[in-house]
Amino acid sequence: MTTTTYLESLYKGYGQSFTLDEVLFEHRTEHQELIIFRNSEFGTVMALDGIIQTTERDEFIYHEMMTHVPILAHGNAKRVLIIGGGDGGILREVLRHQSVEHVTQVEIDQAVIDMCKQYLPNHSAGAFDDSRANIVIADGVEFVNECTETFDVIISDCTDPMGPGEVLFSSRFYEGCKRCLTEGGVFVAQNGVAFMQPEELVTTRRRLGPYFADQSFYNAAVPTYVGGVMAFAWATDNTELRQQSVELIRERFERSGIQTRYYNPALHVASFALPQYVLGALDDL
Ligand code: SAM
Repeated sequence: MTTTTYLESLYKGYGQSFTLDEVLFEHRTEHQELIIFRNSEFGTVMALDGIIQTTERDEFIYHEMMTHVPILAHGNAKRVLIIGGGDGGILREVLRHQSVEHVTQVEIDQAVIDMCKQYLPNHSAGAFDDSRANIVIADGVEFVNECTETFDVIISDCTDPMGPGEVLFSSRFYEGCKRCLTEGGVFVAQNGVAFMQPEELVTTRRRLGPYFADQSFYNAAVPTYVGGVMAFAWATDNTELRQQSVELIRERFERSGIQTRYYNPALHVASFALPQYVLGALDDL
């Protein structure tokens, strides 16, 4: 049997390949090309429009850092909004916080939710059925510009800025998120691998920065987001949230009773430190 390979197509001249040990699902949905396959190194892998979205083996890093950093920094998050996140990993981690009373998740593609429930069940681990979760199938940019509710934390777990995900990197989306955030609320978003996609951070600074008193980034190394550490956009009007001590974060983390495999208070605080090449690109604005 010839084992074929899956070549990620995010970058023209560089990319990662996975042996396709078994294709579990491959279909063009209403919005994007969805494939879910088995790989001997990373377990079950999901890709959209040729770009790796998540894998069984390393998903915990991204999902823990995109949720526990903003929620524990905020300190009293009761209502959370997730944009995208169709695999359910973000929803699972948010709902581990007993202090969170309500989560609305706005995902554009029902097929991603359905197929990830079926082929990546440990990502959501039942989170979609949690009584606190409200799942909305819609375009995130329309939702945040029409929504009348407010949220303490907004997490944009979106695809890259192309196809349906492009609007989630627009000023209109950021303006909508600002209007949906409570006072002192926190917005975070996946913002690409800074070494490979520095223009994504510069664009985010230009478009997101004007709406908030404090706009920066934090980061974590996620093996299958190739090319270096993954950047997460950060935005809030509470400038103290990015300066909190390890002791304060540790107290909140221990009170949450959450066990993690990547996140810890020391990493939380350290993740806001950025390399010179990123600081330089942002300073030039
Ligand atoms: N962790 C991944 C990453 O960092 O690239 C993202 C994972 S998640 C699968 C991305 C989700 O964003 C997908 O489920 C996709 O359908 C959803 N999405 C893309 N554009 C969207 C939009 N405009 N509104 C809501 N959801 C969107």
